[in-house]
Amino acid sequence: MTDPDVLRGRKILVVGLARSGLAAVRFLLRQGAVVAATDSREQPAPEETLRALQDAGCRLCLGEHRLSDFLEADLIVISPGVPSDLGPLQVARSAGKTVVGELELAWRFLSCPVVAVTGSNGKTTTVTALGAMLGAAGVPHWVGGNIGRPLMDFHLEGVGPDRNGPRVIVLEVSSFQLETIQSFRPWIAAWTNLSEDHLDRYPDLEAYAEAKFRIFENQTGQDWAIVPFRDAWLDSRRGRIRSKLLRFGTAQGGAGDLPEIRLEAGRIVWREPGGTRDEGYETARVRLRGVHNLENLMVALAAARLCGAAPQAIQSVLDSFGGLEHRLEFVAQKDGVTFFNDSKATTVESVLRALESFAEPVLLVAGGKDKGLDFAPLRKPLARHVRRLFLFGEAAERMARELAGAAEIERVRDLDEAVRKAWEAARPGEVVLLSPACSSFDMFRDYEERGNRFKRLVRDLLGETEGEGSGVRP
Ligand code: ADP
Repeated sequence: MTDPDVLRGRKILVVGLARSGLAAVRFLLRQGAVVAATDSREQPAPEETLRALQDAGCRLCLGEHRLSDFLEADLIVISPGVPSDLGPLQVARSAGKTVVGELELAWRFLSCPVVAVTGSNGKTTTVTALGAMLGAAGVPHWVGGNIGRPLMDFHLEGVGPDRNGPRVIVLEVSSFQLETIQSFRPWIAAWTNLSEDHLDRYPDLEAYAEAKFRIFENQTGQDWAIVPFRDAWLDSRRGRIRSKLLRFGTAQGGAGDLPEIRLEAGRIVWREPGGTRDEGYETARVRLRGVHNLENLMVALAAARLCGAAPQAIQSVLDSFGGLEHRLEFVAQKDGVTFFNDSKATTVESVLRALESFAEPVLLVAGGKDKGLDFAPLRKPLARHVRRLFLFGEAAERMARELAGAAEIERVRDLDEAVRKAWEAARPGEVVLLSPACSSFDMFRDYEERGNRFKRLVRDLLGETEGEGSGVRP
């Protein structure tokens, strides 16, 4: 751990004043650094927040980035939302300036081990389940990162291990955060899966995957890498991982080539690498739908065991974990029609996984902001699972073109019309599923606003009150 006193008197520029940037500014001011902050937006945060930063001594440059600010700084700290190839950052780097992300900076001042989870999908579910397992087992921990609570908050909350703080920190980390690490070295790094995403920020899958792969970059033989048993992209790069591999999966290998954590006859079976004893966990009471969620739970279970959580505590979480809002969330059921909100499904892969989770015919509501993903992989699952597809938003036209013939398609004006038409068309025994394969920013503030709107529309249509039937169905 670096002594935070090294920051005293240093000139530091924070770029991007969303949640992570704001936390970084507060932390740096507290350590006595000379802090400036810049954001291309005129008002990146509420007026009072900005005024409080200024009152605490932070110089603000809003509505533009001034190159001089970048060149005068001893260190530049950027938020995950800021593209790391931003013009002034490139100039600053060529001038020899160090540029790090908020995650890297916060990591340097940590003194307890980190479990970091990355992957295209399932990160939040995995991290939340892991937090619950550690909680049930009485292992002191702190959960944060990309999950909406930047690692800097840990320092701001002032709970160090010396003050009865956590024994382990559990972090969700995104590719954007990993782009700007230098020494970040998780004790356990988990990679849930890889599929196309964020092609509006990366030139191709390779660039996106390489950013994620940096999670293993600083690990040594003392550390752990939890990876899928089979993963086409990762398989050819395993040689570059120096930490101890721990593989999870449903695939059965030959003798001696089994994943350490696997699904076998309805049970999750765990064997610590090098161990000789299998430990079985029942999945009969798991409330989440889909094999993908069992995979998330397997990753969480493996990390929890490595952190010393007791099997009984883990089993209790497997039996009770209700999943998260907006991820295959049960909304309501009426006249044999069941509604699920999967607003967080902003990738094609997550929609595939959602569809595979239903034996029932599905009326699928999809569309939104176009992220440049290839929709063609949806064709087969659509033909198999979907009776009618309702499309709305910016991506609707391209989706309709690329998916033509795979299912009956109906273009609608917006989410409201989609829900109304889906309910009209639904027959008993069918599922109405919002799983958009797109982000929400063309029509909504974020996926949460979209999911909440969906739930309200459904409840209004069915004449139900808030809370009735919400949550994951047993
Ligand atoms: P992330 O934090 O990586 O975005 P979430 O747990 O929030 O992951 O889930 C995002 C979306 O992906 C949801 O629609 C969820 O149902 C789906 N999902 C969850 N786990 C997986 C998985 N292992 N593989 C594919 N899709 C998944």
